[in-house]
Amino acid sequence: MDSYKDEVIVLQVNNWQTADKKAVCFSRFHGKIVFLAYGARYPKSVSGRLIQPFACLEAEFYPGSRVDKLKSCQLATPMFQMELEQMAYGFLMAEMTERLTEQGEPSEDIYMLLQKALQLLVNRNPRLATLAYLIQLLDHCGIGPVYEVCVNCSRPAEGDGWFSEMQGGFLCAECHSVRGKAESLQPFHEGTRRLWQQLRMLDLAGPGNFSVKGAALMGLEQILHRYLVYQTEQPIKSLDFIRQLATE
Ligand SMILES: [Zn+2]
Repeated sequence: MDSYKDEVIVLQVNNWQTADKKAVCFSRFHGKIVFLAYGARYPKSVSGRLIQPFACLEAEFYPGSRVDKLKSCQLATPMFQMELEQMAYGFLMAEMTERLTEQGEPSEDIYMLLQKALQLLVNRNPRLATLAYLIQLLDHCGIGPVYEVCVNCSRPAEGDGWFSEMQGGFLCAECHSVRGKAESLQPFHEGTRRLWQQLRMLDLAGPGNFSVKGAALMGLEQILHRYLVYQTEQPIKSLDFIRQLATE
């Protein structure tokens, strides 16, 4: 069986059997990879120790039908030193990357985006870095919501409106009063829309300085999380960790 090499970012790691790890990573050229690392939990396993969330590795795999087998790995870049809050937001990035991508659908763009986002997460405000990443990830996955125009009447979005996850974006006040009331919609304020635009365009490698209003930030998080739940049809597990930190 021929092995293949790739650069990967580890998204999720679980214990497997007695001494192994089962992990999910996103690779530069092969997209999402699910793999088993046999013996990775033995104390003497050098490569096993590297298989941790957010590790960026040069790895070699034997392909399997759904699950590949790790042959070897080494660090591609130094391990991120993360504080608890950064880690919590990192888990959110990792969870959504895992959910929104499919095996066998490579995207170097998503790989580069994730790499830049993790770097930004440790250097700047982790909450904003995560929001910017998730917004741009949705676009790369082809399911970014519409917010420049009303999803119902196509008129340019102006002022405050509503967000419909079912219709996939901004709903103007007029359309909402006519047909939106059946759904319970989130208010989508102008400030939130502008922040969305800003983060969608943000260069994650060199974001510069900008200020953010707390209300817009919270509004955007609420809309985005609801939209992600709607798209993936599952609750977001890593949000519990973030909420726990916030109440401590
Ligand atoms: Zn409308």
